[in-house]
Amino acid sequence: MTSRFSPHHWSIKAKSVALVVVYVLALCGVYSAFTVYLVRREAIQAHDRFQQTARMVAAELDAYIESGQQRLAAVARLPGMVYGLRTIQETTGEGYIPPWTTLHYLFFKSPVFTGGVFLLDRAGKVLWTEPPGLPWLGRTLADYPPIAELYQKRRSLISAGFSAEHLLSTPHVVVGMPIQNPDGEIDGILGGMIDLTAAEFTNILKAVSTTQGRFIEAVDQNGLVLASTTPARLFQPALSLSQEAEAFLLASASLAQAPWHVVAGQPRVVALAEVSQLQRLLLWLGAGVLLIAIASGVPFINGFVRPIKKLTAYAEVMARGDLSQPVVVGERHDEIAILAQAFEHMRIELKRSHLALKQRLEEREELIRLKEEFLDNMSHELRTPLHVIIGYTDMLLDEELSADGRNTLTRIRAQSEHLFHLLSDLMTLSGVNTGKVALQISPVTLSDLLARLSPLVDQLQQGKDIETVWDRPALLPTVETDALRLEQVLTNLITNAFKFTPQGKITIRARHDMTQERVVFQVADTGIGIPEHELPHIFDEFRQVDGSMSRSYDGMGLGLALVRKLTSLLQGEIAVASQVGQGSVFTVTIPLRLTCRGDACVALAPATF
Ligand code: ADP
Repeated sequence: MTSRFSPHHWSIKAKSVALVVVYVLALCGVYSAFTVYLVRREAIQAHDRFQQTARMVAAELDAYIESGQQRLAAVARLPGMVYGLRTIQETTGEGYIPPWTTLHYLFFKSPVFTGGVFLLDRAGKVLWTEPPGLPWLGRTLADYPPIAELYQKRRSLISAGFSAEHLLSTPHVVVGMPIQNPDGEIDGILGGMIDLTAAEFTNILKAVSTTQGRFIEAVDQNGLVLASTTPARLFQPALSLSQEAEAFLLASASLAQAPWHVVAGQPRVVALAEVSQLQRLLLWLGAGVLLIAIASGVPFINGFVRPIKKLTAYAEVMARGDLSQPVVVGERHDEIAILAQAFEHMRIELKRSHLALKQRLEEREELIRLKEEFLDNMSHELRTPLHVIIGYTDMLLDEELSADGRNTLTRIRAQSEHLFHLLSDLMTLSGVNTGKVALQISPVTLSDLLARLSPLVDQLQQGKDIETVWDRPALLPTVETDALRLEQVLTNLITNAFKFTPQGKITIRARHDMTQERVVFQVADTGIGIPEHELPHIFDEFRQVDGSMSRSYDGMGLGLALVRKLTSLLQGEIAVASQVGQGSVFTVTIPLRLTCRGDACVALAPATF
């Protein structure tokens, strides 16, 4: 079973709307996937570009620092340095000491140490500076962080950035190189200062384009900016570490010569401006396509939903039996037009067959009427001579006759009477069928009625091994009904009971059902019974039970048909219960008072018997 929400239950309109919704969702899906792809591709490309820039600048910074370090190392390894240091300590700075020309050379020949170079003894005291006489000459720098680290680690070091400290009034970094004697002990330190504001250093970043918000910055080991294309960023935390990093497209490259790295980037908004523009364009394009789809789709959908609805309405009208409205769906040449034509064709054909059927029915009714009239007339015509024959036979039977003659006359009389009753039944049935029977209602004393049936029972019982039981209360009510019709009903039932009971018992019952204001008659026999499958048909006209047991009996299948029709005329009911070989029970129930409807009965006529 399909659920109420399954598409099989949807109207065509709902299905069309669902189709449009699916189309829109699919469009949104494609749009989202495509734009996500575009943004990602652009971001990757920008990242690659920034990565290259960062690597290039990192390489340049590396070369810059390396050149300074190489010079420091070259001088620190000079054998004269250790000797010079000892001498200078011993002579307490008097006289000309040749090694310092090396410092001089170091300072002037190197564009790296823009803040100056210095020489420390093993205790961290500044023995010499270049340019000569810098303010820190003679002071002990052992506690100055980068210097202290140099003494500890005993290898060349490059510091993080310092703003204004003891040594320089401008931001700077310190590059240090230990001077070791042949025993591996530190005799002193050779140091260089890189002034972070000097053009030699800042120019390295200037080669990079800073249009459209692009920037590049060198970051030290503490995550602070040492140099930036935006000078205000000096000593600010690096962007890659900050919370705003999400707003930028960033790439970084590490330096080989220092524990620093270079970050290159651009604000996302600017970097992805073109993609955003394309996104907007696509959005408008999608919306435009959607609008066009709706604008053209709605009339298109209506174009077939409306005529289908119209056709459905026509079909409903036809189903109600109204075939007068021609099926028209307007000017069109598609499948719906073909369907409408087929509908119209069907309507015309239906109307034609409807008319033909009506005509046939009228003809049939006319034929039935003629047949009933014919039957009525024939029966009437045949009954009169039969009546005369019976009368003459009765007269002849009163005469002296030979045994054979009497026998023959008795059989003539019996057969004539049988024919007479058959014709009477036929007349009554055709009268009931044509509605010609008018009921004669009068007060009927049931005891009298039953008493009148007695001779019939006696006659039927003659020569038969059948016990008849009259089962009736002492007091029976008077019923207002048509006595003749009721008698006919009971006569037929009793006759059948004797006809289909070769031997046994027949019970004729009468009861007054006071609560329901009706009387009940029952004719029960222990005869041959009726097969179950035949029971529903025994009240049909000209119907006889198809069975070997009943075939031997004469009759036209009129008796029970008449019984049912008369019972119904008397506003009563008939029921049957039967079992083959056991017998049958026919029960007739009629109201105590028959109510007259229209011309169907004649009110309270005096009793006719
Ligand atoms: P018919 O006038 O030929 O007797 P009915 O209309 O009276 O026909 O009965 C129809 C059929 O119902 C009969 O042919 C008979 O087979 C069956 N029938 C009617 N009454 C009885 C009964 N009391 N017992 C057995 N069969 C019966």
